[in-house]
Amino acid sequence: MGSDSYEYIIVGAGSAGCVLAYRLSEDPRNRVLLVEAGPEDTSPLIHMPKGFGALIHDPKYAWQFEAQPHAGNGFRTEQWVRGKMLGGSSSINGMTYVRGQPEDYDGWEHDLGLKGWGWSDVGNAFRAIEDHAMGDDGVRGVGGPLHVSPHPDRHPLSDALIAAAESMGIPHNNDQNRLDQFGLGYMCRTIKNGRRQSAAVAFLKPARSRPNLRVMTDSIVHRVLFEGQRTRGIQCGPIAAPHEGVRTYRAEREVILCAGTLQSPQILQLSGIGPAEHLKEHGIPVVVGLEGVGRNLREHWCAWMNYRMAQPLSHNRQFSGLRLVKNLLQYALTHKGIMASSSHEINGFLKTRPELDRADLQIHASPYSLDMSTVATKTRFERFHGANILVYPTRPESCGTIMIRSPSVADTPLISPNYLATDNDCRTTVDGIRLIRHLTSQAPLRSLLAEETFPGPLVNNDEEILDACRRHGQSGYHAVGTCKMGLDSDPFAVVDARLRVRNIAGLRVMDCSIMPTTISGNTNAPAMALAWRAADLILQDAR
Ligand SMILES: Cc1cc2nc3c(=O)[nH]c(=O)nc-3n(C[C@H](O)[C@H](O)[C@H](O)COP(=O)(O)OP(=O)(O)OC[C@H]3O[C@@H](n4cnc5c(N)ncnc54)[C@H](O)[C@@H]3O)c2cc1C
Repeated sequence: MGSDSYEYIIVGAGSAGCVLAYRLSEDPRNRVLLVEAGPEDTSPLIHMPKGFGALIHDPKYAWQFEAQPHAGNGFRTEQWVRGKMLGGSSSINGMTYVRGQPEDYDGWEHDLGLKGWGWSDVGNAFRAIEDHAMGDDGVRGVGGPLHVSPHPDRHPLSDALIAAAESMGIPHNNDQNRLDQFGLGYMCRTIKNGRRQSAAVAFLKPARSRPNLRVMTDSIVHRVLFEGQRTRGIQCGPIAAPHEGVRTYRAEREVILCAGTLQSPQILQLSGIGPAEHLKEHGIPVVVGLEGVGRNLREHWCAWMNYRMAQPLSHNRQFSGLRLVKNLLQYALTHKGIMASSSHEINGFLKTRPELDRADLQIHASPYSLDMSTVATKTRFERFHGANILVYPTRPESCGTIMIRSPSVADTPLISPNYLATDNDCRTTVDGIRLIRHLTSQAPLRSLLAEETFPGPLVNNDEEILDACRRHGQSGYHAVGTCKMGLDSDPFAVVDARLRVRNIAGLRVMDCSIMPTTISGNTNAPAMALAWRAADLILQDAR
């Protein structure tokens, strides 16, 4: 299909974009164009789960954004990474599969008035996308396009963590996608038979042979085009030379932006939709002044806790030298072993105060430890046997911004994360560190963990703990909210409850940017389930 005119143009083939391409092209009457800035997902490192460690610093497959220094990140310039290929960030992520808490979505519907986004609708979307290896129990789904599987291997440290949690009254929970997340256990992952289940593998691949779906890779969208207050199409060019060979494509019905939390607001602003004063400063004619575009940026700020292990049980030496060769060989022959597993083993949803009615803290734990001095730019393991636990508030309140820094799509936007800006975010982080210290001091872990090496025993009072978290923490790769969904009465809402951009016809956004608040957990599964739900709305509206 080489036409320049389509019913739907989807911008970005990430978690959400692949789901929409799958759903909207099911009807052969819908000609669908999916435009992706990155390449095809052909590298074997994408599909071997542990390969992502090598990919996230490779500019061919990962966007490298710089987030601005500020108090919350210890005045450091951080590297924010996002997937740039078919599958988007689902092709380089850690493969943890978490839906979030039903209360998150019910809060959108009941507290924010976003009809159709409560748990009854979003829960059904999760069930529809899933093919869960643990079976249908009325909550999990089976028979959907996306395979989800439990962690297959056990590790003495992970078993001891579960036992330690149980000794504190925290339930052993190996499926945190139940109605109550609370507990700690081995995590569920988007992995099938040792291979990554990206959104491209699960949703796009089965749809690729449809004659009404065209997938255009290596093409970066510059802007959305309008005639008056109606969307007419897009303008894009080759990623290798964005301003050469620029072409336009016409959308008969809609353009749907699925470029992610960092780039959907960038495209809107470049197209003249955003904070009017900011657009004018960059010489961009204002099509619709929408103050909320690029605001409400919410991200998980992860505090690291590192431990020296008392026994030689860690994976630290498994990713270099002869051990790496052996592990790669095992993977090539069996699709099993360490290279076939997700970034972390253990997932926990905990309460920093017992009286809370739901978990306010998420942790990831693994039997390896990274060198803290290079953690932001390079994956380097510590020389001794170590373990790590990542700790973060599930629903951060601090909000940052994303704003264009020039009228060119080739210039990455300016990211101001503004982490740890509210008392509640700071308190939950500090209490979280104390809770994990209590957990790791329990009997089942005493023979395995020799000492806490980071933040370390000398870091004790609240201010010291916060300072260590600020200076050595890391973004959780879960940014949301920069084109948030909201009612007309909300001056910062960018899309309405049907995901239509306000005051312009024929344009929607569907990716993590539309979430008005962070859901409790990792964001890949929600991006796909919300996109599934969005497809229902788009198809209903077309009828
Ligand atoms: C390193 C890493 C680890 C993570 N680990 C986990 C995890 O273990 N579990 C989990 O649930 N979540 C995880 N996440 C988060 C999760 O993967 C993302 O939140 C989710 O994939 C985002 O989906 P999306 O559709 O919003 O955007 P994306 O999947 O990022 O898709 C956006 C797509 O748009 C394309 N694009 C952008 N701009 C343009 C343009 N101008 N023209 C054309 N195309 C464009 C991009 O190249 C990309 O393919 C991780 C993320 C990262 C980066």
